[in-house]
Amino acid sequence: MAMAGTRVLRVDPLNPDVRAIEEATEVLRAGGLVAFPTETVYGLGADAFNVRAVLRVFEVKERPPDNPLIVHVSGIHMLEEVSADVPEEVLRVLEVAWPGPLTVVLRRSSRLPSVVSGGLDTVAVRAPAHPVALKLIESFGRPVAAPSANLSGRPSPTTAKHVLEDLGGRVDLVLDAGETFFGVESTVVDVLRDPPRVLRPGPIGPEELERLFGKPVEVPDYARGLELYTGAPPSPGLKYRHYAPEKSLLLVERGSCSDRDYLEYLKGVATRLATLGVALIASSETAGELGTIPGVEVIVLGSRANLYEVAKNLYTALRGLDRLTEASVGLAEAFEERGIGLAVMNRLRKASSRRLVCSSAPPSTLI
Ligand code: AMP
Ligand code: MG
Repeated sequence: MAMAGTRVLRVDPLNPDVRAIEEATEVLRAGGLVAFPTETVYGLGADAFNVRAVLRVFEVKERPPDNPLIVHVSGIHMLEEVSADVPEEVLRVLEVAWPGPLTVVLRRSSRLPSVVSGGLDTVAVRAPAHPVALKLIESFGRPVAAPSANLSGRPSPTTAKHVLEDLGGRVDLVLDAGETFFGVESTVVDVLRDPPRVLRPGPIGPEELERLFGKPVEVPDYARGLELYTGAPPSPGLKYRHYAPEKSLLLVERGSCSDRDYLEYLKGVATRLATLGVALIASSETAGELGTIPGVEVIVLGSRANLYEVAKNLYTALRGLDRLTEASVGLAEAFEERGIGLAVMNRLRKASSRRLVCSSAPPSTLI
């Protein structure tokens, strides 16, 4: 489904065609924009050293200019082009974690245009593990600035179709390698602080970070999605509502409810919303236990015992909510905040217009 001005090339995710990579490289060299798959979500790539190309990324995404982009490199050898003095301790972590879904915030090299970092003197960097992304950056031979390839505020794209929904006609080339692997954006860690601080949870959960860094890491409330950051921004993206579907989405937090009480509460809320038409975004276990309720459509994320599966299906579910004509409002189940589950809850909290907390008394008003 090519849109005006946007070329789509299908590539094998594991063994991408050399000619497709070369074509994408040419687009980057000419200052164009290439949407490409990473193991997390699709990125919208531009030459990080070409100010005009970087400005076009902000423009086509309608992204606020103070929300910095992540710079993608093909490995530690390319790091010196974007950051001058990387602490030895961080290098040791990156030797293990890269390529992979870990983004680190470092001091920005004065050679890297400040627009990439939204004017900050720091830069967020990662080496993606997806073969298509890695081969593209290697072939280009320079760092690629690439935020998620969605319109600002919308759920990130996990398929080329999502990219075209948001940016068709606005980007030069899309490399379509099917679904991305994790389905949520990379873990962002401020490694200039001690202890390291999680700015955005992702596929690498706090437990794994602590093993990587060999010490505790800080997970502030805003990284859990419990509040918007209000101080001087450690990560400007935190100020903005994100990942949001167009319809209202109610998230039901577990509070201190038992599994049984939680299910009852969720069922009560779903039943009360049924007259409006409600889409329940839930685990296969919950979907099975609730059975069929008239007026309630269920979008299944996967088993809650496999949080990777839940994460992988999350954005397709949020986009699906907007397309479901039978539902005028969404309702989401809460998941366990361990490993990638912390990222799932952060995204659900940021996507939701209201959070309810399970308790013995049902809420008096719902929307
Ligand atoms: P995206 O590229 O859409 O995945 O979003 C990038 C995320 O990384 C946003 O939440 C940014 O705020 C964050 N980020 C990028 N650069 C920095 C930086 N220099 N300092 C702190 N956070 C950053
Ligand atoms: Mg994004």
